[in-house]
Amino acid sequence: MLRSLLLRNKMSDFGLVHRNISSLIQSKGFINGSWVDSSNRETFAVTNPANGKVIANVPNMTADDAEKAVAAAKKTLHAPEWADLTAKQRSILLKSWYSLIEQNREEIAKIMTAESGKPINESLGEVTYGNSFIEWFAEEARRIHGEVVPSPTPNRELIIMKQPLGVAALITPWNFPLAMITRKAGAALAAGCTVVIKPAEDTPLTALAITKLAVDAGIPSGVINVVTTNKAAPVGNVLCTSPDVAGISFTGSTEVGKLLYRNCADGVKRISLELGGNAPFIVFDSANLEKAVDGAIASKFRNCGQTCVSANRFFIQQGVYDKFIDLLKTKVAALKMGPGDESSVQIGPLINKAQFTKVSAFVDDAKKQNGTIIAGGKPRPDIGELFYEPTIVTDVKAPMKLYTDEVFGPVLSIIKFNSEEEAIAKANDTNRGLAGYFYSENVQQIFRVARKLEVGMIGINEGIISTAEAPFGGVKESGIGREGSHHGIDEYVEIKYLCLGNLKY
Ligand code: ADP
Repeated sequence: MLRSLLLRNKMSDFGLVHRNISSLIQSKGFINGSWVDSSNRETFAVTNPANGKVIANVPNMTADDAEKAVAAAKKTLHAPEWADLTAKQRSILLKSWYSLIEQNREEIAKIMTAESGKPINESLGEVTYGNSFIEWFAEEARRIHGEVVPSPTPNRELIIMKQPLGVAALITPWNFPLAMITRKAGAALAAGCTVVIKPAEDTPLTALAITKLAVDAGIPSGVINVVTTNKAAPVGNVLCTSPDVAGISFTGSTEVGKLLYRNCADGVKRISLELGGNAPFIVFDSANLEKAVDGAIASKFRNCGQTCVSANRFFIQQGVYDKFIDLLKTKVAALKMGPGDESSVQIGPLINKAQFTKVSAFVDDAKKQNGTIIAGGKPRPDIGELFYEPTIVTDVKAPMKLYTDEVFGPVLSIIKFNSEEEAIAKANDTNRGLAGYFYSENVQQIFRVARKLEVGMIGINEGIISTAEAPFGGVKESGIGREGSHHGIDEYVEIKYLCLGNLKY
């Protein structure tokens, strides 16, 4: 009794903190249409990476809670209020959700900036981008077509239909607290699945805010369930092993993705993985250098370099190398760093201590191996504990960490090259293959290089390429499956074949 009173008091204290940011902040998980505490009453703090302040406390949910969420999603899958809806009705619900997110874009962006550190203009951009998946899949819901295939034998009709996969578990990262959820949930709900969302522990508040809007939009109880936790493994284990979960969609680190893939093997569960990249960004001699530098800045410094499609290794051809570096240095020097809620800020903090330590260690490793720091290269404790300067390192090569691994931070790693063959070989010299970028004004070269790069997505004379209309995903160890585009629905449907025989024509 005393414990629950204390907890309630604690909640209301935090209520005052978060009410300053937005009335959309929720401090409960969401199962079967109810806002709920963790079954063990534990909570964990969500903090602002720009200043370390607690924004809210949310339930630290357990394997038991995950099981309840799965049970709710499973029951609702076949409940009339979801299973009997037509595609058009699901589409209308998704459109209402889209409209409410649009109406609340500023509130959502404030929450996102508070919990992720992302500059406010980027958060507003993410609301637009993330919400575009709900709009897109609201439209796609009505186009999940089957087929009637000519039969090779007489008196038969061969029919192919697509049905909802079942309960989909969606495990998402902190770098796009909204878009990584809507890119999955939009497709799953459009297909007629129900979902259990496990948002990242650093950024559960955006997930809960849009869930509140889904409720307001009329999406029925049990269709969307959200399990907040900072003990991901036991919850993940339930999601991977429960026979009631038909598929897992995960975006995050390659390491965790491989673990989930292994955990799903016994149940032969459908899995879709969007994992890390090691994106090459190649600037050929024929490139338009102004555009290339702008693309490099956009691709590298969005979200402080913490995106899986951020350019990771910059290959610059000898003939334009010096000029490219000069232009780059000028633009990097002009970037403004600070807390994300100041509208002129372009570079915010790193998300947490682990990320900060990793970025610092990668730069130190490059220094030890004779990499040359030509801009930045230091933390900025004067701004905040998790701020690291926009940094340019030249003379990067294997086995420096900056070359072999994804830095996920504001560090531009530069490698000089001579020939096109050399650039392609080095770009492909990695077990990752998510995004790649190159700048060239030579049409022959454009098609040659585009075919040879071993990645799932390519920006040609563009540094930012993600959009709801195009398939997002990688090759090699960067993942399985595609999100967005009309292919995104495929992850959430089963194909069923009907053979109708002994017909009399
Ligand atoms: P990052 O290194 O970017 O934080 P992670 O792969 O650790 O990426 O996290 C991405 C998501 O995966 C987060 O929601 C996190 O809580 C979740 N996660 C981490 N470990 C596990 C696990 N063992 N099982 C299920 N989910 C996990």
